[in-house]
Amino acid sequence: MNKKTATRNLDDIITRVEGARLRVSEHHIVKVIGISKYSSSDDVATLYEAGQRAFGENKVQDLREKSEKLDELPIEWHFVGRLQKNKINNLIDLNPSLVQSIDSLELAQEFNKKLEAKGKKINALLQINSAKEDTKAGVMPEDALSTYKEILDTCPNLKLKGVMSIGAHVEDEKIIKESFKTTKKIFDELVPLGAKYCSMGMSSDYELAIACGSNMIRVGSTLFKD
Ligand SMILES: *Cc1c(COP(=O)(O)O)cnc(C)c1O
Repeated sequence: MNKKTATRNLDDIITRVEGARLRVSEHHIVKVIGISKYSSSDDVATLYEAGQRAFGENKVQDLREKSEKLDELPIEWHFVGRLQKNKINNLIDLNPSLVQSIDSLELAQEFNKKLEAKGKKINALLQINSAKEDTKAGVMPEDALSTYKEILDTCPNLKLKGVMSIGAHVEDEKIIKESFKTTKKIFDELVPLGAKYCSMGMSSDYELAIACGSNMIRVGSTLFKD
């Protein structure tokens, strides 16, 4: 991807995000995370030059390789993928700024134990399986509040900052919207407990997600397209 394409892709997303967020409120701020999982570190560097500062990966190994290659750039790295227990220590050592995919109480407690052993703290989001899809990770919406509270109570080194969800994997926009609304409702109930981020919306549905209250979108294919 050349600089011109990167700038055009980013400008297009920023314009759409701006429109969508202003329809919610002048004060509704949306953070854009570039998901670089299908792209090279050179493309990440090009987008960085175009102005994008936050990127995310879904595999610990890829996060390591890209963050090491781009070591000189002050990129904010996010982790958004399924996390195997035997990779937790590797992920902690990479100091990601936000782990968006804590998908069970068990994973949270294991993560917390490893953080305590290293004397570290990490910001994280609880992933919610809002559309209740078998293929997706995350806690069920009806369990989300109690799981979130239990993590707050039992995992002091895992600093929960909100929720993450992937929209329903269907064509019907009404169903996708319902899944976003489910996540937003849970988020609203967690705001008094310190939740800051409602991470939802990807390349195909981020404007809809913002309309439903998302304040963090994760865009891959549309940001990195040639
Ligand atoms: C891949 C991925 C994205 C980005 O998907 P696109 O459709 O390419 O924008 C967002 N969130 C998660 C968790 C992902 O794995």
